[in-house]
Amino acid sequence: MKIAPNAVVTMHYTVSSADGVQIDSSRDGEPMRFIHGHNFLIQGLEDALEDKAVGDSFEVQVAPELAYGERHEELVQVVPKSMFEGMDVDVGMQVRATTDDGEQSVVVIDVNDDGVVIDGNHPLSGVTLSFDVEVLDVREATEEELAHGHVHGDQGCDHSH
Ligand code: ZN
Repeated sequence: MKIAPNAVVTMHYTVSSADGVQIDSSRDGEPMRFIHGHNFLIQGLEDALEDKAVGDSFEVQVAPELAYGERHEELVQVVPKSMFEGMDVDVGMQVRATTDDGEQSVVVIDVNDDGVVIDGNHPLSGVTLSFDVEVLDVREATEEELAHGHVHGDQGCDHSH
């Protein structure tokens, strides 16, 4: 069958940035399994998978607007060091911070005399992603899988809900 909404897809993928630096790959371990059409993947990759079948291999470039979005410079903010009292704040650290947009995950990009500079952009925002995909299996999702919103293994649902 071809990949369509509510198909369970098993695939291997490697994702790189446009300049060829590998970001992630399933090929070192278990393939990825997901229910197609439920926004489990970024939009650009779900679109590219539509109508593909078992054995298909393809590459696709996904622009930021169909991946993790464009960067927004206003999400870079300076907050007082006192917000991190008792913590060792280092560049590159991921923290939960309360910002104007509520609680969100941010990355510390600088620590200086003014305070701590945090970036609320997704680390992959503004990045064009290049996917190398191999479709290993396609089947219909069961009603139970659709009700749970995730793929079940051979033993059925082994998750705690
Ligand atoms: Zn389940």
